[in-house]
Amino acid sequence: MHPVDLGDGVRAFFTTGAGGVSPAPWATSDGGGLNLGLNVSDDAARVATNRSLAAERLGAPVAFATQVHGDAVLELGAPERALWAADHPPASAGEGDALVTAERGLGLGVLVADCVPVLLADPEARVVGVAHAGRKGVLAGVVHRVLDALVARGADPARVRAAVGPAVCGRCYEVPGAMRDEVAAVVPETFATTDAGTPGLDLPSGVVAQLAARGVTAIRVERCTLEDPELFSHRRASAAGTTTGRQAGIIALI
Ligand SMILES: [Zn+2]
Repeated sequence: MHPVDLGDGVRAFFTTGAGGVSPAPWATSDGGGLNLGLNVSDDAARVATNRSLAAERLGAPVAFATQVHGDAVLELGAPERALWAADHPPASAGEGDALVTAERGLGLGVLVADCVPVLLADPEARVVGVAHAGRKGVLAGVVHRVLDALVARGADPARVRAAVGPAVCGRCYEVPGAMRDEVAAVVPETFATTDAGTPGLDLPSGVVAQLAARGVTAIRVERCTLEDPELFSHRRASAAGTTTGRQAGIIALI
């Protein structure tokens, strides 16, 4: 677990691949895997156990959405808090790549394994959000949409604190040259060259730039999922011909 300080009354952290009950390939080098993602061939009951472990750590139930690489923002409140606190919580809060809530005691989770997890909070307005920003999400501006949703709930971008979590770095994320050009035309800070000298994308820097353009300064967790064996990496697993789990960024008003 990697805690981040997003202000008074806010609890926020990024999970790693360790600390759960899933076996390989949904585990990392540290043993029991804390795979929080459904639809990655892991057993649903184990995922439910892992999710309750994450909720215990947070001290509140955690809601997850079905992420589709878009820019839709789901707003959750008291009814969802009751749903997710139940003995048998739902598998998903619905389709979307960002969640916001002003509800105290309801955790929001964003699932990743190379894409960029973003946590946001305005501790004064008492509103928090999460976003899943992969290549398509960065292009679609999901970070802008979740900020818009926070502002609509009373947040002031000047007060918003954000954390950009572990993701694949620009030295590792190789893409075709045309794809690099397409994304960098929209967010120039994503332009990268990999260690192999090929075209790359630096999505964490792109997300930090998108936040900065709105006046939001982000804490950045400088860990690369592909290089760090404690973290799940979709690209690393695919290259090895296997699957992997999903870690999460998690936030709640407490
Ligand atoms: Zn890397």
